[in-house]
Amino acid sequence: MKQEQRIVVLLGAPGAGKGTQAREISRKHGFTHVSTGDILRDAVHRGSELGQKVQKIMEAGELVPDDLVSNIVRERLLDGTPEDTVLDGYPRNRAQAEFLDASAGDLAICVIDIRVDEEQLIKRLSGRRHCTECGRIYNIYFSPPEEQGICDACKAPLIQRKDDQEAVIRERLRVYRRQTEPLLDFYASRENFFSVNGNTSVESVSREIDRILQKFDGSNASKGGSGTGPSTRLRS
Ligand code: AMP
Repeated sequence: MKQEQRIVVLLGAPGAGKGTQAREISRKHGFTHVSTGDILRDAVHRGSELGQKVQKIMEAGELVPDDLVSNIVRERLLDGTPEDTVLDGYPRNRAQAEFLDASAGDLAICVIDIRVDEEQLIKRLSGRRHCTECGRIYNIYFSPPEEQGICDACKAPLIQRKDDQEAVIRERLRVYRRQTEPLLDFYASRENFFSVNGNTSVESVSREIDRILQKFDGSNASKGGSGTGPSTRLRS
């Protein structure tokens, strides 16, 4: 029988591997992956009204206004049938965390903080390149393409995200320290708050997260679920 909707929040600095691990959680455990960064980038790419509002803010490495992202999250979490969801890049400050709590009602949220050293973060972000055709991601330090600047798979040119340029990376990390890191205190006392060492390989972080999700399911099951049954879902 389907349990109530499960929500996993991935916290961590830019470059900590939230996107990669969210995709792993989605692939292995069937969660829907909601990345506010990806949704906003897509809006910019399409030139939608939302995209036009946020483009400059994103290129500067700042946070876009809370109401815009919270609307996105509410739509993704409330529309359609309730689905297990992994949030990647949300919440990013106290107001967003409070909004999520208010929306989640009595559903348990599992919060996983991925910790990575600053030097490693900068290399991961500044070395990151994307294929303009297939979207495949490379890193010039850790996983370079065979031919510099060209995708191995489709031979299209590789590009760097504007916000992966060094000056913007420093601003993103500053914003993270000031606005997002304090969420660790906000969540620290909760039963389903976990921290993983993200300096290791994708596979080992993913295995650690698998173990956390087992504990999370166990703690939910022992309480008979955190909500009222199969139809439990987020509140509007
Ligand atoms: P990300 O791909 O998660 O690093 O997000 C890229 C950019 O999107 C961030 O630097 C922000 O400008 C914006 N963004 C993504 N998620 C949020 C959020 N929850 N709150 C505010 N801005 C966000």
